[in-house]
Amino acid sequence: MPLSIRRDDLLPGRNFIGRWCEARQGRRFDVADPATDTVFASVPDSGEDDARAALDAAHAAFPAWRAMPAKQRAQVLKRWNDLIVANQEDLGRLISREQGKPLAEGRGEVAYAASYVEWFAEEATRANGDVIAAPVAGRRMFALKEPVGVVAAITPWNFPAAMIARKIAPALAAGCTVVCKPAEDTPLTSLALIKLAEEAGVPPGVLNIVTASRERAAEVVDVWLDDPRVRKISFTGSTPVGKHLARRSADTLKKLSLELGGNAPFIVFDDADLDAAVDGLMVAKFRNGGQTCVSPNRVFVQAGAHDAFVDKLAARVAALKVGPAGDEGSQIGPMINARAVDKIERHVHDAVERGARVVVGGQRLAAVGRNYFAPTLLTGADATMACACEETFGPVVPVTRFESEDEVIAAANSTPFGLAAYFYSSDVRRIWRVAEALEAGLVGINEGALAAEAAPFGGVKESGYGREGSVHGLDDYMHLKYLCQGQL
Ligand code: ADP
Repeated sequence: MPLSIRRDDLLPGRNFIGRWCEARQGRRFDVADPATDTVFASVPDSGEDDARAALDAAHAAFPAWRAMPAKQRAQVLKRWNDLIVANQEDLGRLISREQGKPLAEGRGEVAYAASYVEWFAEEATRANGDVIAAPVAGRRMFALKEPVGVVAAITPWNFPAAMIARKIAPALAAGCTVVCKPAEDTPLTSLALIKLAEEAGVPPGVLNIVTASRERAAEVVDVWLDDPRVRKISFTGSTPVGKHLARRSADTLKKLSLELGGNAPFIVFDDADLDAAVDGLMVAKFRNGGQTCVSPNRVFVQAGAHDAFVDKLAARVAALKVGPAGDEGSQIGPMINARAVDKIERHVHDAVERGARVVVGGQRLAAVGRNYFAPTLLTGADATMACACEETFGPVVPVTRFESEDEVIAAANSTPFGLAAYFYSSDVRRIWRVAEALEAGLVGINEGALAAEAAPFGGVKESGYGREGSVHGLDDYMHLKYLCQGQL
């Protein structure tokens, strides 16, 4: 069994609230392998009591953790990083097993997750404030950076390790304590990471995790939203849930980082290097089967390049190998669940009904399994189609032909979302014009793989606010305190 793991203790199968424990009511829910829909594990189905217990623990642990010198907190995070790296193979298999991405991508995600832990271990020691040049005599003025307090982290299923790392590492580095609820489809990777954090020496109470089924997600999270002791919510997920969190946390005015859905444009101008553009699109679009919030959702190709680009792309899409994550050759795994495949199918049918042409794929791959969809290339897409308005979150490339730069900028920006955008051009003036005109938090210029721990990740418009990673990433977990000393 290629996805079996060597260290059984990386599957604690319980909540961690200062210690490993069952949900108070004793309920559990099943975790299924998306490749086969078979149940292979279960975890606690937590409720209000568990959420409150986790918060009590995080609140009690906060004073000592914030008081610990940053260098010591950094050492704990470095050990956590080392343990994640040392267990890369097991963690990669676990990700692939519960999430479905090909094993090479599962391993890659572990390295990516660790890079954030290492980065924030280093940043922890540089959370310096300012000595301010006082504008009046007899005073000294300072700005200190302080941890905000207890952070609630709510994560999605598409990157079960990276999303946890990207939230928890900066929170711990800043001196915050954490309560966390991972996505119901992929709780096991998150629990394994917490197990390694415990092993790294994160003190009891500093980092707590409770798992819950979809039905109980709101029950758990509402406890944290309503409680004034939670000072910050860090969420990655859908825009409707993000808006709900913002509304419900308004009464206690929590700080929020929301990384929500995108609707990324990918633009290929006539002057682009078409082979590079095809390579970039393949990387950006088909990573994790298209189930990433920075996946290109709308592809615009200028008229002069359109046919040549579509021909090159069709050959590459048709050659993609679909199969279970454990087959080393697989490039596209199963979608996360049946709901996801239904949505992809609806988008393709809607596009075809409205005049799009299927060049490659276009249908489910029932022979491979219930949750598989064929890598699909559509041409003749337009703005009226569901695939242009909603994130498809699957292996579907809808191509729209355009004539002018102004027209494509207007089309690219005509969405409430603004997470990633990509374009390919070799004209240096156009590169700056277009990069500045696109309404997005991240822009790939002749590049399809953008994310890096050293870069700020986050959106504009309804894709949310806050930035993860980079030298700015700690700021989301800290506030500035101004000190003014007089009578000097
Ligand atoms: P997706 O549709 O990709 O699953 P969601 O936004 O629904 O994205 O889920 C992201 C995270 O938000 C998951 O951990 C999920 O359990 C959680 N979640 C879903 N609904 C709610 C809710 N009403 N309140 C709080 N958290 C929720």
